Amino acid sequence: MPFPYRMCRIFNSNWYHFLWYAYTTVFSLSCAEVCEMSNYTGGCQCGYIRYHLSEEPSSPHFCHCRMCQRSAGAPVVAWANVPIASLTYEGAEPALYRSSESTQRGFCPKCGSSLLVVDDGSEIIDITLATLDHPEEVTPAYDSNLESSPPWMRWESRNH
Ligand SMILES: [Zn+2]
Ligand SMILES: [Zn+2]
Repeated sequence: MPFPYRMCRIFNSNWYHFLWYAYTTVFSLSCAEVCEMSNYTGGCQCGYIRYHLSEEPSSPHFCHCRMCQRSAGAPVVAWANVPIASLTYEGAEPALYRSSESTQRGFCPKCGSSLLVVDDGSEIIDITLATLDHPEEVTPAYDSNLESSPPWMRWESRNH
């Protein structure tokens, strides 16, 4: 029984996949049904933009650069990337702002939530992990541009 499930793309390293296995065994679901149920969904704060990822986001990380900080109004932004082809919208699509010569950032035109960043001509798009419906399913693995992180973000300055 476990063997075919190991072929499933959601079956990698996380402990909750064991729960998926128990769940699917109890309810006799096929692997395809499990994959369908496990697709990644997300959206902006107001719900005007709803998106769906058909692939697991990869290279999840924190970016502390000034562009991300100003764009999100936050000291750090968690990102992960997916092929553009795997990203679909339920209805409206994000508005785009050209934040640098070759890069655009997508946001909700109604509520302003920061949703994505994409380089011109790239087939990869970065999405903001915090807009996933279940951000706990993707764990950032590294930090980039830490030199732009304000000193008050550092643990040693918060734990005195
Ligand atoms: Zn919105
Ligand atoms: Zn950045």
